Amino acid sequence: MAEKPQLVNASPEDVETDECMSTYTHIYSPELLIDQVAFITGGGSGIGFRIAEVLMRHGCDTVIASRNLEKLTEAAKKLTSTTGRQCLPIAMDVRHPETISTALDEALKTFGRVDILINNAAGNFLCPATSLSFNAFKTVMEIDTMGTFNTSKVIYDKWFKDHGGSIVNISATLGYRGQALQVHAGSAKAANDAMTRHLAVEWGPCGVRVNTVAPGPISGTEGYRRLGGSHSESAGVFRSIPLQRAGNKTEIAHAVLFLASRASSYVTGAILVADGGAWLTSANDVERLLGFWSAEKRKDK
Ligand code: NAP
Repeated sequence: MAEKPQLVNASPEDVETDECMSTYTHIYSPELLIDQVAFITGGGSGIGFRIAEVLMRHGCDTVIASRNLEKLTEAAKKLTSTTGRQCLPIAMDVRHPETISTALDEALKTFGRVDILINNAAGNFLCPATSLSFNAFKTVMEIDTMGTFNTSKVIYDKWFKDHGGSIVNISATLGYRGQALQVHAGSAKAANDAMTRHLAVEWGPCGVRVNTVAPGPISGTEGYRRLGGSHSESAGVFRSIPLQRAGNKTEIAHAVLFLASRASSYVTGAILVADGGAWLTSANDVERLLGFWSAEKRKDK
């Protein structure tokens, strides 16, 4: 049966939880990524889970890799039973290159190839700079920035250098205007944006494209909960976003699909902001975020 057409500005299907969607309307050919393999860090939850699902719905097999194997195994079962494609869950820590190397060996043993790398793993929380410990800043840099470099370098050295590939980094717009209470993540993602351009230049001649998607507030994610997304939504803060709402995980997965696939064959070194225009107009409100941060701290006690 023909799929129903969607309105130009309507958001695509999504579910708030880490479950697969019960319905999905293809925008691209369902065979766009047929028989390719994507390696997705942090693919067991949130945006990474939905990226895995959407790529698999376009014919791709996936490796989902992060620290918590139990969570990954559960996620892989759901992804495989919904899409009919293979999903291999592997435990690794992006801070430790030797674990990435072992994970890649396992992926190559299972699938014989890797075509796409999605650097999605990250850690974030709200915290004013004065309350941020040196160690907390370092940890975010290690996961977000070192983790992106480590995974890209391991996969490039062992596979992409000789076979080509497509890397998509998941960034954020936090550093564009110095988002309040986000010096750690904003600094880490700004470094990743620079890394996107450096690696695009160095690895382009080997047929490796390197691009970035920078999401705005995305509902149904850990990031949204920790960074006060629901609080902002109920306070009407999203009315100032040009598209007047938070995004959903499928919208980010679609931006990733474009950059990961041959739909963007002449694009490299690009940063695609998928935020409904949020960073252009949203208030950078230190007082409001400080209020949210202190309320959350009181709840934790
Ligand atoms: P999430 O569900 O918490 O995803 C983060 C993932 O990273 C988790 O699956 C986690 O799995 C993995 N991870 C964390 N530390 C790791 C490590 N050391 N090694 C390997 N994996 C690790 O959060 P999300 O909100 O979907 O965020 C996904 C991406 O989108 C992030 O890059 C984030 O910065 C970006 N982003 C999100 C938003 C938003 O509104 N949600 C906005 C802008 C940008 P384990 O615990 O199993 O390791």
